[in-house]
Amino acid sequence: MATTTRGRVLWDQPNRGRGTCPVCNRTGIKLLYERVVDHDVTKQVCKNCRSKKQLKKQGT
Ligand SMILES: [Zn+2]
Repeated sequence: MATTTRGRVLWDQPNRGRGTCPVCNRTGIKLLYERVVDHDVTKQVCKNCRSKKQLKKQGT
């Protein structure tokens, strides 16, 4: 499986995968993870704000 969180694949994304995290308001951080913020509203957030579910899936 190709990695989508690092390397050149980011360059194809708008602003090279970076932006302002809607949860912690950090600027210039990579927004590579999806998180459901409001029932069925999904937003791209930084790795610090990704859902607990995703953390479990990836291990450690
Ligand atoms: Zn964040």
